[in-house]
Amino acid sequence: MSKPTQDAAANSKAGPAIPTNFLRPIVQADLDSGKHTQIVTRFPPEPNGYLHIGHAKSICVNFGLAQEFGGVTHLRFDDTNPAKEDQEYIDAIEADVKWLGFEWSGEVRYASQYFDQLYAWAVHLIETGKAYVDDLTPEQAREYRGTLTEPGKNSPFRDRSVEENIDLFSRMKAGEFEDGARVLRAKIDMASPNMNLRDPILYRIRHAHHHQTGDKWCIYPIYDFTHGQSDAIEGITHSICTLEFESHRPLYEWFLDNLPVPCKPRQYEFSRLNLNYTITSKRKLKQLVDEKHVHGWDDPRMSTLSGFRRRGYTPASIRNFCEMIGTNRSDGVVDFGMLEFSIRQDLDHNAPRAMCVLRPLKVVITNYPEGQVDHLELPRHPQKEELGVRKLPFSREIYIDREDFMEEPPKGYKRLEPNGEVRLRGSYVIRADEAIKDADGNIVELRCSYDPETLGKNPEGRKVKGVVHWVPAAESIECEVRLYDRLFLSANPEKAEEGKTFLDNINPGSLQVLTGCRAEPSLADAQPEDRFQFEREGYFSADLKDSRPGHPVFNRTVTLRDSWS
Ligand code: ATP
Ligand code: MG
Repeated sequence: MSKPTQDAAANSKAGPAIPTNFLRPIVQADLDSGKHTQIVTRFPPEPNGYLHIGHAKSICVNFGLAQEFGGVTHLRFDDTNPAKEDQEYIDAIEADVKWLGFEWSGEVRYASQYFDQLYAWAVHLIETGKAYVDDLTPEQAREYRGTLTEPGKNSPFRDRSVEENIDLFSRMKAGEFEDGARVLRAKIDMASPNMNLRDPILYRIRHAHHHQTGDKWCIYPIYDFTHGQSDAIEGITHSICTLEFESHRPLYEWFLDNLPVPCKPRQYEFSRLNLNYTITSKRKLKQLVDEKHVHGWDDPRMSTLSGFRRRGYTPASIRNFCEMIGTNRSDGVVDFGMLEFSIRQDLDHNAPRAMCVLRPLKVVITNYPEGQVDHLELPRHPQKEELGVRKLPFSREIYIDREDFMEEPPKGYKRLEPNGEVRLRGSYVIRADEAIKDADGNIVELRCSYDPETLGKNPEGRKVKGVVHWVPAAESIECEVRLYDRLFLSANPEKAEEGKTFLDNINPGSLQVLTGCRAEPSLADAQPEDRFQFEREGYFSADLKDSRPGHPVFNRTVTLRDSWS
């Protein structure tokens, strides 16, 4: 991966560049001091939705650090909430991590594999007087909890004996009580200024089938009681999460200090990725899918990794983007233009060029002999000779784009106009002689003449204003082109006006489907996920699901130039 020349979004324009990843020196120091000989990180998704671009940042941070320092990374599903989880999400998450180009160490792991150990540690806390079964209703518990400015109150059940707690907890496990009837709580400090330390819940009753453990459990540990101990069981050295968990760190450490864990991982927080015009909430993404505002989790307008993939983004472009924006602890919103910069840079270097006419207008070249063909060859890439050439037959009938001819053009128009000339890309100069119209006055065909002396060179003494793309009429293939635009109209779509929701920010023009487009013959073999630059139109990729060789469907990945700022 080449180092980006543009600096991190968080870096100010003036002054020294801050390190792009504040975790690097921390890991380096831990290796230098011998505290660790090999680092172990983890990526811990909850399988309750598809991964989005924010998760890509977390994946790149965790896997990236381990790669850089010769360590390993675990993929661990934090599966403590069976009601919201699903095998579909597990499969999709594994596929997305692999697609991004990372390999986890060993088998996929599940926090649910540790449920027996976690139960034993809960019992340990009870036996050491540090946990109790509480019977307060959720409403009462909220009242007892206090507020940010007022301390909480001790629950009347807080001083139950160890024996009674053990009895009740084992009966919770045995399924004697209904959902929500009782919880197990840690006994820490109801007056702590940190709300997370006010006797947090460790276990709740939930009679739910679990995708991994089946019906074995009807009590489930909450996230905080699961996460740090799972890290400890796996020997994670650096447990990297986002800043909203900073206030959970004292609790993370309290569990490690009060349980006989095999090691004590350290938690580090970085600021989450926020991208303008983009939703990074799984709940809202799910709502978009469930309510059919988009065509599934992998709709190319979605900010999911599977959406970006279908849109035509490359894994490298997303990894480069994550590197480019840096890893730090300051809040900020990254401009979507940076992500587009990254994909454009990749595709500019790597995508073969081709021509595709999105709104075909037939052109008959009246002075080109019938039956004659020029077998033209055009480079696949202007800088990469090794990509070879593509064959393009030129004959009497071709298509150009409707938007490349105007009867009454504005000043400075560089395309075709009556009696004007234009160069056909890689071919001849033509002149527009006559526009044929239907009964309603719509132009249905152009009659042009070509200058046989202009193949590959400029006509002497004449100025040809512009170059347009074209395809041969007979040999080109029909295709569908889907033009995607941003899904949301507002830069901060999650923030809706009074009385509205984020759904009101949806861009009604986010998808435009063009049928009857004409692609140059070399595109007939396009395989799903093949990427191209369509000259003058943008970067496109053959759709993963709907495109077939011979019947291509192209998604516009990104326009040629920045259209965001
Ligand atoms: P949920 O509300 O379902 O918990 P989540 O976004 O936290 O949503 P997880 O599956 O728990 O989803 O996330 C897995 C990892 O990805 C966590 O370590 C989380 O901190 C990280 N992550 C999630 N969103 C972002 C983001 N926008 N930027 C960076 N990291 C993120
Ligand atoms: Mg989470």
